[in-house]
Amino acid sequence: MDTASSIGADGLSGPASMMNLSIPPGRRRANTKTGRPPPSPNMSVGKPPGAKEGFRRTYSSASIKVRQVEVGPSSFQKIKLLGRGDVGKVYLVREKKSSKLYAMKVLSKKEMIERKKIKRALAEQEILATANHPFIVTLYHSFQSEDFLYFCMEYCMGGEFFRALQNKPGKCLKEDEARFYAAEVVAALEYLHLIGCVYRDLKPENILLHQSGHIMLSDFDLAKQHTSVGGRPAGVLRTDPNGPPLVDTRTCISDFRTNSFVGTEEYIAPEVINNKGHTAAVDWWTLGILIYEMIFATTPFKSNNRLNTFTNVLNADPWFHPNAPVSPACKDIIFRLLDKHESTRLGSRSGASEVKNHKWFSKINWALLRNQTPPIVPSTSNGIDAVNFRMMRDSKSLDLESQVIAATAGRPVPGTPGLNEPDGMDIGKSSSQEDLFQGFSSITLLHDGEA
Ligand code: AMP
Repeated sequence: MDTASSIGADGLSGPASMMNLSIPPGRRRANTKTGRPPPSPNMSVGKPPGAKEGFRRTYSSASIKVRQVEVGPSSFQKIKLLGRGDVGKVYLVREKKSSKLYAMKVLSKKEMIERKKIKRALAEQEILATANHPFIVTLYHSFQSEDFLYFCMEYCMGGEFFRALQNKPGKCLKEDEARFYAAEVVAALEYLHLIGCVYRDLKPENILLHQSGHIMLSDFDLAKQHTSVGGRPAGVLRTDPNGPPLVDTRTCISDFRTNSFVGTEEYIAPEVINNKGHTAAVDWWTLGILIYEMIFATTPFKSNNRLNTFTNVLNADPWFHPNAPVSPACKDIIFRLLDKHESTRLGSRSGASEVKNHKWFSKINWALLRNQTPPIVPSTSNGIDAVNFRMMRDSKSLDLESQVIAATAGRPVPGTPGLNEPDGMDIGKSSSQEDLFQGFSSITLLHDGEA
């Protein structure tokens, strides 16, 4: 049998031959005219672009051209498993026609139905398809087969930021190094908030590294997007009369409150535990935890079990060893981000601009972040060796909403966290599996500069 072209259960063929590989096209290069072949006949079930009402395009995504999907599962050869997500697997694949490498997220429809994850997958697809930012993973194609949904994404060859941290002496970073990554995360969150999206699951496992070492936020499984296009228009602040105008991202999502009980245990914000509804301020909380973890190699409220961790999140202050080698500004930003009250938390007044203006970030040249050499440059990889993908830890994101709904066969339980915001789809209403995934756009996204 020709193993190179054998089709796996997930529709991808594998294993791949090791010849003639290249990486996907450079990210957001100069605008050139594109000339693409007509849509491929191996297109799978799904609507053509434009058919899905309300597919939200924003100013920044306007430079991405949306086409009817030009590939299908059989267009790719599976090379190896890169990682596992909550409901799916991510494979390193090679597009047969171009020999380009991609990361392919494959989600089982059966599992999504059973675990009430359909709406989350549709939201993830929409956010990835609309986002266009250097620190957010690029989506090239999305399509579906009878049994699976596929996200064909840029392959982040540098691997998980978590793994990079584990490889550092003491499993932590120097303050200056942590500041660099925190700044890139702030830039990504600023953009997401600007397009009306709350990320909700920031943690080192969800930060991937580009081969250059710059970050790429991935996994939008728990992200939530505002229903109106790009949220509300951003206000403009001018804190320094001689400085550049600063965008108030808080206004983009100021009336956006959600009740889902989602996040990752050690990163969860107090308002999520209290189930009083939460806003984009949860992302600033998780940034505080991330900065702490990058510097101290542990999270500030971690305890021996979930209950005790949550008790600490609600009541304890972050603790710094008296001899902790960090600046007062660093302690201050951690304290300000880990404010238990979201209304006074750093970022709650004017969003990302407030965070960027904190004195800890005063050394950061925001406009030139992308031009700086990151503190960790991932091991050189030829791509297929996936040298930067090996270690994993079990840091499951919590999605009590879906778990509870699944456990109660779709019947809301009064007072159960998150049920005021129905999620998953009502599978009782739909006769065929295809209908359930109708909202999933099968599209090819052409980024600037791709021929
Ligand atoms: P996710 O389901 O998005 O959480 O992905 C699960 C794992 O797959 C991640 O933790 C990474 O190890 C890997 N992965 C996901 N997306 C990519 C990508 N674009 N490039 C490389 N690896 C990825």
